[in-house]
Amino acid sequence: MSKLLRVLIVEDSKDDAELLAIELERGGYQPIYQRVETQLGMQAALDEKISWDIVLADYALPNFSAIAALDVLKNHKLDLPFIIVSGKIGEDTAIAAMKAGAHDYLLKGKLARLVPAVERELREAVVRQEHRQAQERLKYLAYYDDLTTLPNRTLFLECLGKQINQSKLLNKDDYLFAVLLLNIDRFRIIKYSLGHSLSEQLLIAAAQRINKCLNGQDILARINADEFAIILTNLKSAEEVETRAEEIYNQFLIAFELQETIVFSTVSMGIVLSNIGYEQPEKLLQAADTAMHYAKFDALRNLVFFHEVMHTLAVERLQLESDLQQAIDQKRLHLNYQPIVSLSTGMIDSFEALVRWEHHSLGSIDPESFISLSEETGLIIPLGRWVLKEACQQLINWKRSSFHYRPLSISVNLSGIQLSHPKLLWQIDTILQALQLEGKYLKLEITESNLMENSVTLTKVLEKLKEREIKLCIDDFGTGYSSLSYLRYLPIDTVKIDRSFIVRDNKDRNYDIVKAIVNLAHSLGLDVIAEGIETKLQLNILRELGCEYGQGYLFASPLDSQATLELMKNGLKIC
Ligand code: C2E
Ligand code: MG
Ligand code: MG
Repeated sequence: MSKLLRVLIVEDSKDDAELLAIELERGGYQPIYQRVETQLGMQAALDEKISWDIVLADYALPNFSAIAALDVLKNHKLDLPFIIVSGKIGEDTAIAAMKAGAHDYLLKGKLARLVPAVERELREAVVRQEHRQAQERLKYLAYYDDLTTLPNRTLFLECLGKQINQSKLLNKDDYLFAVLLLNIDRFRIIKYSLGHSLSEQLLIAAAQRINKCLNGQDILARINADEFAIILTNLKSAEEVETRAEEIYNQFLIAFELQETIVFSTVSMGIVLSNIGYEQPEKLLQAADTAMHYAKFDALRNLVFFHEVMHTLAVERLQLESDLQQAIDQKRLHLNYQPIVSLSTGMIDSFEALVRWEHHSLGSIDPESFISLSEETGLIIPLGRWVLKEACQQLINWKRSSFHYRPLSISVNLSGIQLSHPKLLWQIDTILQALQLEGKYLKLEITESNLMENSVTLTKVLEKLKEREIKLCIDDFGTGYSSLSYLRYLPIDTVKIDRSFIVRDNKDRNYDIVKAIVNLAHSLGLDVIAEGIETKLQLNILRELGCEYGQGYLFASPLDSQATLELMKNGLKIC
């Protein structure tokens, strides 16, 4: 089968054009050709919706030339194979033609060379085309996010630069725009629990929802895995920005339905107005980022406007993050241990390991704040691994010590991020095997709200932990708004009632709540630990309610390993 070849022939002689076609036919092509002999004729041929395969051009025509034809091609932004076929052509003219963009030349008297030259040039055109596509792709990737096809950070910053310049030209007070940074809450957890593909679909759906709220000149970009940046343009006031931001925020109150999986995903948003006067795009974006972090850790607000004080605090926070990284690397963290006491016997049943960080200049840092910092930065993974290993090692040391009393097990707090980490089971197995510790001596405390996040996937992990005989405890129970009946579906052993429910006396409203929790837990065969016991009265009420275990300052505060050993030796004073 002959190959169809669309040939544009730049030639004043009809016969010569026909000869070229015949030669191509002989070479196995089926040429469809059009002959042009003027610039206008060439332009018209290129304007037609024909995709030409090749141009064969005489060097000099009465009213046109090969060099002029090359210019026309350039103006049409076409890079077609271009062969000069001339009656005679000197070396200088040939070089000039090649420099102007021709790919080959041959003499009319030697047409036997035509077909091989055409074949070669068609092949090379394919190579050039592939190269061009690769370059275009690289250029695209340098400026766009492949997944959502939105601009990426680089292009966003360029657009932001243009906005800043535009507002400088106009009166800054009249020309108001805002930068919004929107972070999808718990995206890492969503990604680990739903998998790569669904989380990508979530991002695409999120981009579509945001887009619905934007006007013509507004810009939306994906600047990080779980972050979108927006420029809202042509604004009248800060109130208008707030209304528009709320509109975007509200888009996330509706659940996403992705391949029959329902995903709820809220967002945290930082907002900065152009009239803050920052002239570098990076600085504006950073300000929005800082405000976004405030939104993330503020339980009451999801949209936060940037204020300059935040910047100073952000710098301190960054410092703290790098200090924490170092503290983990250089093993400058340590564990304290707090006894969990059997309320019926008054004996220590086990210990909870609680991590401590003595900062070189700031002194001791509150665990809740550095744990949340480490969760936010991903440092919780190495930190959590260290805590697990250290706590298990300590248990072994105690078991090997010469005291008669040995703690039965050790409780370790596990963050939701650790729980969703694909290597969690492997890490635990490695630690237990290295220390030759049986799983039954380890109890993992998981905060209630973390268990609520994605029940199906997490339940599987919990079941795998149970296969290893590791005990599971819901920590801070009562704070996560989960329905009590939910407990039925989780493979857990223990419920630890949050200390905010601690009962002050038996007229206290908490009394009934704790009673209900204890009864329900018992009906499901679960043990109950009450945390935060500080007085004898509280202890007595909890005993009366049938709570098995207790933990709190009344027995002992968290102690370092040496003091814990002493405590084991001397026993508890209160019983
Ligand atoms: P949590 O697991 O609920 O730990 C109990 C917290 O209550 C501890 O605070 C403990 O010192 C405190 N506490 C104990 N008895 C009493 C009492 O009688 N009254 C009062 N008011 N408080 C009492 P801490 O050590 O500051 O830890 C706070 C939280 O930080 C822990 O809450 C836990 O969620 C987290 N955390 C601590 N260590 C780790 C860790 O190694 N990994 C992870 N992921 N989280 C940890
Ligand atoms: Mg705990
Ligand atoms: Mg707790």
